[in-house]
Amino acid sequence: MSFQVHGKDLLARIGTLTTKSGSFQTPHMFPVVDPNRPVLDPKFYLESGIRAIMTNAYLLKRGRPGQLPKDVHGTLGFKETVATDSGAYQILEYGHVGVKPAEIVAYQEKIDTDIGVILDFPTGFHSDARRAGWTVDETVRRADEALKRIKRTDILWVGPVQGGVHIKEVGRSAVEMGKRPFSIYALGSPTELMEAQRFDVLVDMIVAAKKGLPHSRPLHLFGAGHPAMFPFIVALGCDMFDSAAYALYARTGRYLTSDGTQELAEIEEFACMCKICDNINPEEMRHLDTTEREQLLSKHNLLACCSELRRIREAIRKGHLWDLLEHRAYANPAFKKFLAKIIQHSPFLEQFTPTVKPRGISHFGEASDHRPEMVRYSARRLRVPVERGKAVVLLPGRWRRPYHEDPRNLPIVSKLANRSNVSICFYTIPFGPAPMELDETFPLAQTESFDSRDPIMYDQRAMQVAEWVKRLSPKLVFLVSEGEYGVAIGKELLGRSMKLKVIRIHATGSKPDRTVGSIIRLLG
Ligand SMILES: [Zn+2]
Repeated sequence: MSFQVHGKDLLARIGTLTTKSGSFQTPHMFPVVDPNRPVLDPKFYLESGIRAIMTNAYLLKRGRPGQLPKDVHGTLGFKETVATDSGAYQILEYGHVGVKPAEIVAYQEKIDTDIGVILDFPTGFHSDARRAGWTVDETVRRADEALKRIKRTDILWVGPVQGGVHIKEVGRSAVEMGKRPFSIYALGSPTELMEAQRFDVLVDMIVAAKKGLPHSRPLHLFGAGHPAMFPFIVALGCDMFDSAAYALYARTGRYLTSDGTQELAEIEEFACMCKICDNINPEEMRHLDTTEREQLLSKHNLLACCSELRRIREAIRKGHLWDLLEHRAYANPAFKKFLAKIIQHSPFLEQFTPTVKPRGISHFGEASDHRPEMVRYSARRLRVPVERGKAVVLLPGRWRRPYHEDPRNLPIVSKLANRSNVSICFYTIPFGPAPMELDETFPLAQTESFDSRDPIMYDQRAMQVAEWVKRLSPKLVFLVSEGEYGVAIGKELLGRSMKLKVIRIHATGSKPDRTVGSIIRLLG
């Protein structure tokens, strides 16, 4: 087995997972197939490029009392990767299952599964901290028992992390399970959280699991199947998930899209042009018999999931996953909460984001301040070596990049840059102070942004500029002041009792020669 990583962004990665029956790309969603009530012909999965599905070993066993299916691939009619869940979810629903941990391992080996899950003990949503602690210990005990019983090393075994909403317990479970040699780790019990839209708790759970687990192995999230959530959970480092949502939503006439759920009853036109939606309109679909309607809706729902995964993988390749998160956050206030919580973990996300990206980044506003590239720039700025006691010249950094190439800055920069007693810095949106030394580095020169002329943004950036200037202990500061931003910086500098010369210019009629002339005169 191998898990090869081809690309990274935030905590997300694009990878290839190889099992004994084939390979598939991650991030991946395993469509969950009910072995006793299959909704779709298995051929449809392969035709749609889905190379790995999941079924439930417990349901498979229960649906065929007295007879053992020889092989799960034959039973489902799917020759590529099949993952089997152990039945732990049924414990959550019914309180117990009639099988022992060793028995479910042996069963999964007999039916020739490719990815098997040990029988863990789910914490659930309503357990108190003590009970959660117990489920963590019980899962570890079961993991050790299962590891002793495993005979087939050609199966990839999954070690579930428990702890539920008790974040400390999730962290402890991740560290304990991470010490054990599982090929894949999984985070349990988030389904109820997702249904209740408690994305804030879910974010903390996933981050706690990621921090405790070995980073080289894939992380699976149980029961995540709404495409609108995929960018968020992938950004947090979930490589795989499984869900029957595509079929369950179809049963109740719900149509999945990347922005949320729609009711078939209320759709006039399908925006989607997948092979299903392109051949039927909503009115015709509503008039089909129940089984056919459920099938077509299931197919569209599944294709909507696949399409979103493609979009995410492409965003990872381009280094644009954060942009997708911001975009999605505007689709639904609940997702805005999701992003707000992710922002709290941005220093952790920053550690895993590539330092240089194939393309520039976008800055849309306040939320973009927390994207890893911005976090990193703020820290890097403070590490630039400075010579104290020079004169500082502050110039407006406008849309033109690098900032010094702006035709209104170039004449000033070219006359001052080689003077040993001058330090040049641009005041910019979104970066605040952009010292000349960093002007041509990533991401400054490659960022797309717009100035919303927001006074709060100006004040906040003016403060950063003043802090930067203070660090240089200048003998004199020249502020080439433009607009409200310039005024805000002037106020900040005066507030810090700096020796300041303000040269006011107007955006439309600035005369660089006159500006540089007066600076040189004053420098002496
Ligand atoms: Zn469609």
